[in-house]
Amino acid sequence: MNRPTVICKTAADLRLPPNLIDYAATRAVFSWEAVRAELAGLPGGGLNIAHETVERHAQGACRDKIAFRFLGVKTTRDIRYGELSRLTNRFANVLKSLGIGKGERLFLLSGRIPELYVTVLGSFKNGTAVSPLFSAFGPEPIATRINLGEGAVLVTTELLYERKVAKIRSQLPTLRHVLLVGEDGQATSVPGTLDLVTLMAQASDDFDIVPTGPEDLSLLHFTSGTTGTPKGAMHVHGAVATHWATGKYALDLHADDIYWCTADPGWVTGTSYGIIAPLLHGVTSIVDEADFDAERWYRILAEEKVSVWYTAPTAIRMLMKAGAEIAKKRSYPNLRFIASVGEPLNPEAVWWGKEVLGLPIHDNWWQTETGGIMIANTPAFDIKPGSMGRPLPGIEAAIVKKDEEGKVSPVDTADTEGELALKRGWPSMLRGYLHNEERYGKCFAGDWYLTGDLAKRDADGYYWFVGRADDVIKSAGHLIGPFEVESALMEHPAVAEAGVIGKPDEMVGEVVKAFVSLKKGFEASDALRLELLGHARKKLGAAVAPKEIDFLPALPRTRSGKIMRRLLKARELGLPEGDTSTLESS
Ligand code: ATP
Ligand code: MG
Repeated sequence: MNRPTVICKTAADLRLPPNLIDYAATRAVFSWEAVRAELAGLPGGGLNIAHETVERHAQGACRDKIAFRFLGVKTTRDIRYGELSRLTNRFANVLKSLGIGKGERLFLLSGRIPELYVTVLGSFKNGTAVSPLFSAFGPEPIATRINLGEGAVLVTTELLYERKVAKIRSQLPTLRHVLLVGEDGQATSVPGTLDLVTLMAQASDDFDIVPTGPEDLSLLHFTSGTTGTPKGAMHVHGAVATHWATGKYALDLHADDIYWCTADPGWVTGTSYGIIAPLLHGVTSIVDEADFDAERWYRILAEEKVSVWYTAPTAIRMLMKAGAEIAKKRSYPNLRFIASVGEPLNPEAVWWGKEVLGLPIHDNWWQTETGGIMIANTPAFDIKPGSMGRPLPGIEAAIVKKDEEGKVSPVDTADTEGELALKRGWPSMLRGYLHNEERYGKCFAGDWYLTGDLAKRDADGYYWFVGRADDVIKSAGHLIGPFEVESALMEHPAVAEAGVIGKPDEMVGEVVKAFVSLKKGFEASDALRLELLGHARKKLGAAVAPKEIDFLPALPRTRSGKIMRRLLKARELGLPEGDTSTLESS
């Protein structure tokens, strides 16, 4: 289908006046000092995320407002800001009574249950840094991360402990305490562990936040492992300034929003935007404890009256795969803004939003390392489907190139491909990779933080993702970004997902090879393969189009939903698969 290259916004597309109206003027006057002035700070000086997210509201007008609505499989539980304050105080008291101090590290292994959210925020109150792990990890990746992070405490559920941790407990020498929650929040009695439910019941509702400053460690987040072994990115309490600004400008949060971030807190999106940013803005968040299910998701959007929805390309592709009929069974009059992060968002997906839900999907770009959204499409501005949008106020981005001496400098000409870089110094920038100074050092060149992603900027200042530096294909003198090829394949009605790699070739260096999975109702066949090859050639030209296409039932992805091209490549070439700790097993 031929569609326009720009989705123009009119006043009718905006149900509320957006927080970011004049892009140039807001950027010109923006300062991080002004954002910090919006934060309360600790009463005695200092800064603590839990004070900004919870206490400020619990002591003010939002006390009785719902902070989180947990949609369990059987039950729904609301936690209001006032209750969140008491519960997190209790948890901070539990840590204190166990002798866990400031700067120590707590690991979390659980589904999206209330205890997870209380643990994260209560740990901040105690000055304890948190590292949330994805609950589907097996024993190996759990042990590697806890040992790397020298975890002193683990909070998990009885079930996960018995399945995954009990057998490796002796391999976790730094772990002093394991706190367990039983099924449905019940008490437990498992040898070698403490029962969190009883400890919480005995703890006091009052706690004075341990003084922390902007440079104190708050979160340790492991990267997705898409390109190699996951790295432990260290984040600080001062990052909260980024979460405040991006919650306002990129997610356009307004006080009355019902907000749903579908990311799991095992990944940075689930903490920065599933916990911190919405609380900062005093909105109500929906948390779905269940796994993805298209029917259920549409029901949540409709019945919970979600107004702002932050999700990921992988989820959107799954909804697309399930078919528009399920979406059309309901209407979504409250929904006013949809955003996505994590992978390139194919133009097809942006348009799907508009056609099926009545709103385009707004792509934004960031990484575990950046701690918050850096480049975004925001509500007031036209969308160019396929583009990640423009740098937010306070963020200076550039396309940089390295010269022969290794000196990095920005490229001024539009539409030139190069590495995406950010001017260092935004508040949520990582402060290091845990125990990997050397790798951290490589992220910087002078004033620039180098992202490892290739992109280009057009004459209007919009950024376009080309591919990860590691994934770019060099074929007969051309540099080919997998995203462009995948997006063209996705435009074919049979294609649900596409992953593209370079396959070594004596003649041209690398040939483009695509792996596709099909939508419901389509069968793999030689005829379809030929049709797809022809479709891609017509869209992309012979130099860029894939020469080979293989069908797969599903593409390998990380548990955070990213297509693992390095695995497609290793499997194609019969090479070792490397670190697969984050590979989704189903
Ligand atoms: P690892 O660093 O371990 O290989 P990862 O880079 O996938 O894993 P994350 O920090 O979770 O780990 O993901 C950030 C990366 O995801 C970005 O560097 C980029 O490659 C990709 N990404 C995120 N958002 C977008 C987007 N909107 N468009 C294109 N790519 C995106
Ligand atoms: Mg990365």
